[in-house]
Amino acid sequence: MSSRRAEITFRQKQLLEELKKCDDELTGQELHRQLHQGEKIMGLATVYRNLQVLVKQGLVRSRHLPTGEVLYTPVERDIHHLTCVDCGETTRLNGCPVKTLSIPKKSSPKFELLFHTLEFFGLCQNCLEKQES
Ligand SMILES: [Zn+2]
Ligand SMILES: [Zn+2]
Repeated sequence: MSSRRAEITFRQKQLLEELKKCDDELTGQELHRQLHQGEKIMGLATVYRNLQVLVKQGLVRSRHLPTGEVLYTPVERDIHHLTCVDCGETTRLNGCPVKTLSIPKKSSPKFELLFHTLEFFGLCQNCLEKQES
């Protein structure tokens, strides 16, 4: 853990708790909606701003979907997905194929790794069957 990392604010803590409660990834919109159900009122812009801080602090990971949406999840959840380029369905992969992979120290001696993303794109079984028939 780096000493550069600042304490997180009450709002950032709320966001992090909400993400931990949910066992799937959430978009900023979904997170915003969920907070409102629990009567924790926070504006959408505030949600996005604080999510950005959490990502920078290495507490939350983000991944961008081909649709332009961004999904957030607590950083300790190392999940990867198979995404169908045709229907957009995503399937969770069991385990992380690059968990033991490390960045060559020579090429980036001063880089502090916070998280990684890895996406697989292809055709799901349904779409494959549709093509065949
Ligand atoms: Zn598909
Ligand atoms: Zn991984």
